[in-house]
Amino acid sequence: MTPRTLGLTDPIHAYLMRVGVRESAEQRLLREATLKLPGAEMLLAPEQAQFMALIAQLIGARRYLEIGTYTGCSALAIARAMPLDGRVVACEINPKFAAIAERHWRRAGVADKIEVRLGAALNTLDAMVAQGGQESFDLAFIDADKENLDAYYLRCLSLVRGGGLILIDNTLWSGSVADESDHDAATEAVRAFNRMIHADQRVDMVMLPIGDGLTLARKRSAEPTRLEHR
Ligand code: CA
Repeated sequence: MTPRTLGLTDPIHAYLMRVGVRESAEQRLLREATLKLPGAEMLLAPEQAQFMALIAQLIGARRYLEIGTYTGCSALAIARAMPLDGRVVACEINPKFAAIAERHWRRAGVADKIEVRLGAALNTLDAMVAQGGQESFDLAFIDADKENLDAYYLRCLSLVRGGGLILIDNTLWSGSVADESDHDAATEAVRAFNRMIHADQRVDMVMLPIGDGLTLARKRSAEPTRLEHR
């Protein structure tokens, strides 16, 4: 049989939480506060937040763009992992969620690194592109409404530098993408996006079964490599 990822039973999940995840006190407080809120199902799994923070460190990210901040767990994890001059642009449409996020960021001492852009993310991203923001981010995370997934991705491809990384959340969409009888608009949008990015030669990619499915896409540089010059 082809090797495949282990299914997470409750005991394995509990073990993973015990010895696989490091959370600061403030991250834990934010996670516990978020679990009591409407939309708590949008909260990231702690190991996913930690994975994304480690990726930010691996690629030396100094500029991080987030589309869909919710209560700020992912922005907090990544802001903590970035150097002092690291900067986060956090797009969030709901001011109540952004206010919760900002309160926790202040307590965690990372608020100075994070700039919230309230409103529809498409407008924010279009404005950044129009103002010459191309190639200005090392890392982007798309975790907002699924109907606009393609549109967010295209703008991120412009705003992230060659060699930079775009992370896309919920690409397994609770498994519904694999259920051919499911024709919900969001499911169809995620399914179409997954097909598109799988074939997209502008990026190197992998879809990981972490959380609700996380796709990593590394933007290929527009410049030809040295080998191709010879
Ligand atoms: Ca999500």
